[in-house]
Amino acid sequence: MSKDRLDVQMVKERVDMVGVISRYVSLAKTGASYKGRCPFHSDDTPSLVVNAQKGLWHCFGCGEGGDLFSFLMKIERISFPEALERLAAEAGVSLRRRDDSVKEPLREIIAEAAAYFADNLTNDPAGEKARKYLLERGYKQEVWKQFCLGYAFPGWDRLKKKFGKRYKVETLVNLGLLVKREDRCYDRFRDRIIFPIHDLSGRPIAFGGRAFEGEPKYLNSSQNPLFDKGGQLYGLLWARKEISSCRTAILVEGYTDVISASIAGIENVVGSMGTALTQRQADLLARFADEVVIAYDRDAAGGAASLRGMRILRNSGLNVRVAELPIGEDPDSLVSREGAKGMLAVISESTPFHHFFVRSLELRYDLSTVAGKEGALEESRAFYQGIVSLPLRQEITKLLAEGLQLPVDELRQDLSRTRPHTRIVRETSEKGQGWNEEEVILCLLLRGEVSWSQVAELATPDDFSPDHKPIAEVFANAGEASDPSNLIEELDEEQARKASYLALAPILFSDAEKALQDALSRLVRLPNIEKQLSKLRQEIEQAEKSADHSRIDLLQRAYSDLVAKKLLRGGTCGKSEA
Ligand SMILES: [Zn+2]
Repeated sequence: MSKDRLDVQMVKERVDMVGVISRYVSLAKTGASYKGRCPFHSDDTPSLVVNAQKGLWHCFGCGEGGDLFSFLMKIERISFPEALERLAAEAGVSLRRRDDSVKEPLREIIAEAAAYFADNLTNDPAGEKARKYLLERGYKQEVWKQFCLGYAFPGWDRLKKKFGKRYKVETLVNLGLLVKREDRCYDRFRDRIIFPIHDLSGRPIAFGGRAFEGEPKYLNSSQNPLFDKGGQLYGLLWARKEISSCRTAILVEGYTDVISASIAGIENVVGSMGTALTQRQADLLARFADEVVIAYDRDAAGGAASLRGMRILRNSGLNVRVAELPIGEDPDSLVSREGAKGMLAVISESTPFHHFFVRSLELRYDLSTVAGKEGALEESRAFYQGIVSLPLRQEITKLLAEGLQLPVDELRQDLSRTRPHTRIVRETSEKGQGWNEEEVILCLLLRGEVSWSQVAELATPDDFSPDHKPIAEVFANAGEASDPSNLIEELDEEQARKASYLALAPILFSDAEKALQDALSRLVRLPNIEKQLSKLRQEIEQAEKSADHSRIDLLQRAYSDLVAKKLLRGGTCGKSEA
C-alpha cells in the first residue's frame, strides 16, 4: 500500500464524516444512516443518504455519490490533495510532505518513460508496426514530435525490466507504469500507441494508450501523485492559447480526436479522456473559455455520463453546445475524411445542450404513447434538477411541454418533484427490482455481506460487463478485509457514483448467501448452460442426419435435463428453447 493511501485511510478513520457533511446539510438520523437535502441539486425531499459506517454517501435524487473526500471536493470545488490536506488538519494527521522534493524524482521518472516510449516509436526496429499505423493515418514524424507520441512494446515486462533496475517497483506501480495484481506485477501499457498527458507547464505527468485492436480501446494511467485524473484535459497545453483568444473550446473524447483536429488546423480542441466530465475539468475550462462545444460521437453524447457532464459545464457558467456528428463518426474520422471543413460545418450547426437533450428524448422514446412519455419524463427529472439556472429551467420546461404535449404548469411541478428510488429499487424489497446479477453481486460486496473470495470461486472480473468490471477489479485486487470506502478511491467519479448507489440503496437481502449464489449462477453458469445447450443442439442435428436413433434419444434426454436445470436457476434471460 502506498503511503498516500495510508494517509487517506488514517484520515478517514479519524474524521467524523457526519460531522463534516452536517456543516453543509442538516442531517437527520434514520436507522443506520443519516438523511438530508442534497446540496448538489434542488432537493425538496431528503434524498441524500450518508452512512458513516460504510464511509459513503449517495443522493438518490441526482445520483451524485462517493466518499467523504469526493463530497468535500464537489461542494468546495477543490482538488483531491486540497481535500486531503483540510481533512488531515482536522483529524490531526500529519501528512507525508507532498512538496517538490517528493514530486521532482517522480517527474523525472515519467519524463524518462516518455522518452523511452518515444524512442521505441522512432528508432526501435520493433516499433515498425506503430510507425506504419501512424503514417497510414496521416500522422507524420513532426506530429509524433509535437505530441510526443510513443509506443509500448508487446509483452508483459519490457518496461519493468528496463526501469526496475534503477527504480523501486512500488514507485513504478504508484506512478501507474506497472500494474500490481495479487502477487503479479507487469507493464500497464502493452502493444499500444502512447500519448503522454502534460500539465500546463509542459511536463508529462501520465500516459494514455490506444490499442491497435481489441478492448479497451483507450487506457489511461491511474491516479498518481502527479496526475489528478479528474482534473486534466488532454491537449490543453497546446490548445489554451487558441481557446483564450476565441473563448470557445471544442471538447472531444479521445487523443486522436485532438491530434487529427490540430493537424487539420483546428487548434482549440481538448480531450476529456472519457465521457464523464468532472467539476474540476469544468472549472479548468472555465478559466480559458466562455463556450464549450461538445463533439463526442453520437452514442457517447447521448449517454448519461455525457449529459451529466454537460450540466456540470453549464453550472460552471459555460455556454454549452452539442455538435451532432454523422452517425458512426468521431471527430478523428470526420476530419480524416472531410478535412477541417467538414468538422467546422458540424461545429457551426451545433445546438444548445438542452435542445439536444429534448431532441434525444424524442429519438429514444415513442412520445405518442403514455409509456413513452412516462419514460421521457422520468429521465428529464434528473436532468432538470441538475440545472441551477432559473431561466434555463424555464426554457427546458417549455421545450419539454411541447415535446411531450403536456401542460406547462403541471409539468413544471412534476419536474421539481424528487422521486427517490422508485422505478429502480423498491424500499425493503427482497432483491433489487430491475437489478441485474452484476449489480446484486457488487451490492453484496460493497456492503461487506460477501467477500471477493466467495465470488472468485465462480467468477472473475472478466465475467462482468465493461460497466461494472472496474468495480469488480478493485475488489479482486484488494484481497480480503478491505472496506468499501477505501476501495472507492480507486474508481473514477462515474464508477464511484455507481458504487455508492449500490452500497446505500434501500434493499434488504434476507439471505445474502443465497442471493449471491443466484446471481453468480446467472452471471456465470447460465452462459455456460447456454453454451452446452447450443453444443447439444448441434450434436442432435448431426445424429439426426445419420439417423442414429439411440444417440438422438440420449442427447435429447441430456438436453431436457439441462433445460430443466436452467429453468430451476431462474434463468429467463436466455433465448427460449425450441
Ligand atoms: Zn442530489
